[in-house]
Amino acid sequence: MAEIAARIQQLKQEKNALILAHVYTTPEIQDLADFVGDSLGLSRKSADASVRQDKIIFCGVYFMAETAALLSPQKKVFIPELNAGCPMADMADADGVVKLKNMHPGAAVVTYVNSTAAVKAVSDICVTSANAVDIVRKLPQQKIIFVPDRSLGAYVAAQIPDKEIILWPGFCPTHHRILAEFLARVKAEHPQALILAHPENNKNILDRADFIGSTGQMQRYAAESAAKEFIIASENGLLHRLRTDNPAKKFYPVTPLAVCPNMKKNTPEKLLNVLENETNLVTVEQLTADKARQAIQKMLELS
Ligand code: SF4
Repeated sequence: MAEIAARIQQLKQEKNALILAHVYTTPEIQDLADFVGDSLGLSRKSADASVRQDKIIFCGVYFMAETAALLSPQKKVFIPELNAGCPMADMADADGVVKLKNMHPGAAVVTYVNSTAAVKAVSDICVTSANAVDIVRKLPQQKIIFVPDRSLGAYVAAQIPDKEIILWPGFCPTHHRILAEFLARVKAEHPQALILAHPENNKNILDRADFIGSTGQMQRYAAESAAKEFIIASENGLLHRLRTDNPAKKFYPVTPLAVCPNMKKNTPEKLLNVLENETNLVTVEQLTADKARQAIQKMLELS
């Protein structure tokens, strides 16, 4: 592993490449990255004009690398594993969203960034779990079509009861493997620990949480809180980041089942392969890219 890591560091300099990693990737990948973040943080980093590198190696799932490619058309974006998909993103399709839009004229289509570029392209605006509530509140439309995550959409609807939110029936299989009975067991073992939950969880998990937020917001909350122990109701990769950043605090997963298999497809060997051979270039068809970029840029302006 040390050899691979050294070769990655060397090639990264030679090829002028920036390595980005999502907090759900493995600890090995996170430790190799130049920047580790959640969807919003990674989107901002991809769009950051001050970044001097002309290549981005995106360790995450495909829609995230697509988003980076949309936001940095002048850069080459690569992903270590082309088959690192997101089942939730695949639960929504552009034709279906257009049909729903036609059934509700005047509604705004608000799309979670965990979606394909084709779905973003037929949306009015994108959101992340960090800014969804704020952005939906700011929109002038009273009626919102929320795509594709029904859990995040229901969470937004509960915060903004004066708006009508039509939910697309998608969900994250990883977060939905976090069950209330698992949480009750871990809480019984660590009664003093605060429960931090992600809005992709089911409502019965959110109802038990002390804090609900995106992974970035959970990181900030854990760092700033006076509490010393936390139960993390999200993908277990986040625990590595939390433990690294807060060595004096304790973090407990809810269940070993809370693992996104697609995020874990990014391995140091595949990362090295992409750097060496410049394979797995991520591209988006021009018209789709232009429309999808508008939806993401609207989000960045409003958040
Ligand atoms: S954790 Fe869920 S939403 Fe995130 S990439 Fe995996 S399946 Fe998709």
